[in-house]
Amino acid sequence: MDKLSTEQRHKNMAAIHSKDTKPEWIVRRGLWSRGFRYRLNSPKLPGHPDLVLRKYRTCIFVNGCFWHGHNVALPQVNSEQLLVNSECCKIPKTRREFWVAKIRRNQERDVEEQKRLAEMGWHSITIWECELKPSKREETLKSLVYTLNKIWLEDHQAVVKAYPKLEEENGLLKAAEDKM
Ligand SMILES: [Zn+2]
Repeated sequence: MDKLSTEQRHKNMAAIHSKDTKPEWIVRRGLWSRGFRYRLNSPKLPGHPDLVLRKYRTCIFVNGCFWHGHNVALPQVNSEQLLVNSECCKIPKTRREFWVAKIRRNQERDVEEQKRLAEMGWHSITIWECELKPSKREETLKSLVYTLNKIWLEDHQAVVKAYPKLEEENGLLKAAEDKM
């Protein structure tokens, strides 16, 4: 009995730990703690965005660097171009063609889905797994919050009004300059 519960506890702790360090969770916690509210995995939207912030008309995708080919330069189909791996996406040497085709499809799908979201009036933000490494995390979340606030402000900005005209403006400016 005791032994079982100990094992169970280990299992639970392992589960909690992995859940907590999942990239998506880092973004969720980061936004929630800053007061942002969102829906998860909205099945009705193209691409099933990981987080949907309706108030900000924004969908957030938290992408794994390998599966979505972050910064990797895939060769064109039927070309002699070389594949250029990136820091966070290294395509395996074995079954290379299979992986290239798979990741290319994922990339094309990402573009297509975000295009459809844009047509529906949504912004899309992609957060990459590598941007959530402990050393980069805070900076990434900060810049995400900045972008969200910018979107909100742009949406809610009153019509920009022209400055009122002062008939004597030129004269005043000149007078001030003369005193300098
Ligand atoms: Zn990456």
